[in-house]
Amino acid sequence: MENCLFCKIAAKQIPSSIVHEDDDLLVFKDINPAAPVHLLIIPKVHVSTLSDCTPEHAPLLGKMMSLVPKLAADHNIAVTYDEQGQPSRGFKFLINSGPDGGQEVYHLHMHLYGGPRPWRGMRT
Ligand code: 5GP
Ligand code: ZN
Repeated sequence: MENCLFCKIAAKQIPSSIVHEDDDLLVFKDINPAAPVHLLIIPKVHVSTLSDCTPEHAPLLGKMMSLVPKLAADHNIAVTYDEQGQPSRGFKFLINSGPDGGQEVYHLHMHLYGGPRPWRGMRT
């Protein structure tokens, strides 16, 4: 897709700080992080927004989401439990969709936020 920022990042025409790559996906650090850990998970193929997805996209969406536990473990933000079973750490996983959803880049991406709070602009 011409003139798509994230297609250019996927094609390595624009540099990014890549933390994971496979045949279908690229994961890189957000240029303007809102939390100590802020990663963007994108498909290499151009899909504009979650609203454009159909059941045919289920394998791709599943692959993106099921990568999260590994990314969280790699970045020390996985949910852990103490001896009393109390959870600690953790992350937020978000897909902004369309103007009302706060989407700015129209290439499907999943945000993964984590690390010690406070996080910029987020109370929950
Ligand atoms: P959206 O608001 O569309 O859900 O999120 C777009 C995200 O892309 C923002 O968090 C923004 O900081 C990030 N972003 C925009 N341009 C670039 C860029 O050139 N490189 C990287 N790594 N992130 C970008
Ligand atoms: Zn694109």
